[in-house]
Amino acid sequence: MEDPIKFDLWGVASSTSKRWLAEKIASVHPEVSRADVLRKIAGSIRSNAPVLFSAGRGWSNSVRERLDAAEKVSDVEVFQESYGPDGKANLEYCEEHLLFYGGCLGCPVCGRRHQQ
Ligand SMILES: [Zn+2]
Repeated sequence: MEDPIKFDLWGVASSTSKRWLAEKIASVHPEVSRADVLRKIAGSIRSNAPVLFSAGRGWSNSVRERLDAAEKVSDVEVFQESYGPDGKANLEYCEEHLLFYGGCLGCPVCGRRHQQ
């Protein structure tokens, strides 16, 4: 039996979402230094590129965080853990769960192979 699948959330930072994102990343990932967090966010704003702001989350947290983030961050997307926007062209997409995932087993939430 494989471990239940977890999820990562990505979004594009803006000057108005900077503070929210910094607090979000710090609360979910206290192991990341403040300087690294700010560097990542600055890079995202500069290049309009998505930044990983929450990783290794269960599905119910991911859904809640996506709703939360949508008011502040643009282009919020949820990926199967360890996949991201860079590999999007090779990923599958579940229309029901609005989720990018990899592999040939289908959507992990539809298939109930996910962490709650
Ligand atoms: Zn699904």
